[in-house]
Amino acid sequence: MKLVFASNNLNKIKEIQSILNGSIQILSLEEIGCHEEIPETANTIEGNAILKANYITKKYGYDCFADDTGLEVTALNGAPGVFSARYAGEQKDANDNMDKLLDALKEESDRTAKFKTVIALNLKGEQHLFTGIAKGEITLSKTGNRGFGYDPIFQPENYTETFAELASEIKNKISHRAKATEQLIDFLNSTK
Ligand code: IMP
Repeated sequence: MKLVFASNNLNKIKEIQSILNGSIQILSLEEIGCHEEIPETANTIEGNAILKANYITKKYGYDCFADDTGLEVTALNGAPGVFSARYAGEQKDANDNMDKLLDALKEESDRTAKFKTVIALNLKGEQHLFTGIAKGEITLSKTGNRGFGYDPIFQPENYTETFAELASEIKNKISHRAKATEQLIDFLNSTK
């Protein structure tokens, strides 16, 4: 079985391919000749994952899965959410995004937040959604230099370090993305 991962992240593609043990062949966008930018214009995280998966299935005819992630902050009613990448502007700068978020929470005592990843899978004419959540808190300042995005200001529940301080092996076990991917893989393994 061939399945497209609507992503340009070769690390993510390789990781999933190795867990699936060759029973399912994961194709990258490059391998199916998709070089255009896939629209991400929905106003929810689920909506964007679905939009991306449907774009590939409709245009290229492949079964496909796509993911989308956002950081939802309780005191900001779930913002930046689906707009996490461009929270501080279209240049999608991680430092600017973190500075804006720290500033927005300056007077807040409730600093709880959660990362949410949704994976939409189009398989044999049906659509399946898998959601992974990582709960935690936004720290008072940036700490750590691993990872990417909001990692330096996100401290996951039950840990005293931020995602940017934790070893990648630990983050990759407890993260929102890991949890959603685990569900996708269990499902794919059960349908083989
Ligand atoms: P995307 O859906 O993977 O493009 O992510 C949307 C936004 O959330 C971007 O600003 C990413 O930097 C941020 N983001 C996604 N996953 C993580 C993560 O694991 N840690 C920190 N930031 C993340």
